[in-house]
Amino acid sequence: MMLAERHTRQALERLREQTREAGRHVRSEETHERERRLAGEARQRVLDDLASHLQKLEQSATANGARVHRAETAQEANRIIIALMRERGAFEALRNRAPLLDEIALDEAAAVNRIALTRVHPGDFLVALSETTPQHPIWPAIHLRLADVSETMQARLRVPATFDVHILDSHVRSRTRAAFFSAKTAILGLQFAVAESGALVCLDNDGHNANLMAQAEHLICVMSIEQVVTSSADLHILIKAYAFGAWAAPMPAYTAQILGPTRMEGRGPDIDLVIVDNNRTRALAEGFEEALRCIQCGACHTACPVFRQIAISGYSPDPRRVPPYSGPIGAVLNPLLLRPGVASEQPFLSTDCGACNKACPVDIDLTGLLQRQRVRLAPNISRERTLLWLWRRMLKRPRLFTRFLRAIAHLR
Ligand code: SF4
Repeated sequence: MMLAERHTRQALERLREQTREAGRHVRSEETHERERRLAGEARQRVLDDLASHLQKLEQSATANGARVHRAETAQEANRIIIALMRERGAFEALRNRAPLLDEIALDEAAAVNRIALTRVHPGDFLVALSETTPQHPIWPAIHLRLADVSETMQARLRVPATFDVHILDSHVRSRTRAAFFSAKTAILGLQFAVAESGALVCLDNDGHNANLMAQAEHLICVMSIEQVVTSSADLHILIKAYAFGAWAAPMPAYTAQILGPTRMEGRGPDIDLVIVDNNRTRALAEGFEEALRCIQCGACHTACPVFRQIAISGYSPDPRRVPPYSGPIGAVLNPLLLRPGVASEQPFLSTDCGACNKACPVDIDLTGLLQRQRVRLAPNISRERTLLWLWRRMLKRPRLFTRFLRAIAHLR
């Protein structure tokens, strides 16, 4: 585990204070308890009968004119996305900010297939420009100081040196806006998809999703199986939950929704919907259903005292290969969704203080899940420890070590 840089830790502490203060003005404790119970129930309604809600979504999205594809794995999801782009001869696309696109490693797949992918979320844009890693699911550029941003923009975009936030911001926005007008394909990681109407929904506080939906000729929407929502009524509850968790706000600044070409009298973009499983069915079978209630709002990250010290980089020794999810929920999800053995130490990075439980707007018992994940992963950890112990003992006995190497060579 590695501490985040001092200014990142300070920024995360400030974010904690600001969201706590703003949250007090939006909800009383009593209201928060009531709202999160309602939101938790809305998520549970879907998980109770996931297969039939997904089937319903498939039918309504198809009736709206979208093409629906199912992907068992991250690799399959990327194969489908790349094939959809090839079908149209497209070699560039815009993408929004969505953890699922990081989970399937879309950027890497695009690079291998020579597809230019541009991130249009302003924070993501800056992170890509500075060649660093997003440090928070909602505030990806929280680790960048004004001086860093100014220097990078001066070097990479030839923007005159300035510490004026508004000038720097307008330069970023003029670049991302230009991208909106030029790209024909957009890849959108969705927040929710409504089973009863087939509405595909993205939430943000800068409008980049609405711009993508309005400008692109072809939308490739990507969602994981649990992101389906039963009805518009549940969607309303969950939009409020997301806004409160992400920005301590009563509602998001932008809610972008799109139905499909049939419902828009042929005026909208062509839509492909890719529904990804990637080990979620297995996680459900293993009894981790509650983890799939998560709406990726980032509230547990900001509330977690460990995360505020280590940020995302602390979850990986290699800053170029950070796991897609972080914070308390990441410590539960990563070992379930990624390759066995990857991220298996993460559930142990917790003090069990329960701050995440109180912050979660969909009422997830994160400490309970973390404890179960530790029990589940303990055999792996003790096996690794035993192997390490044997290895150390062998290194102290050169003759035994030589014999071991010979045996390996012989077996090869
Ligand atoms: S687990 Fe964390 S990220 Fe997920 S909904 Fe709860 S607070 Fe938000």
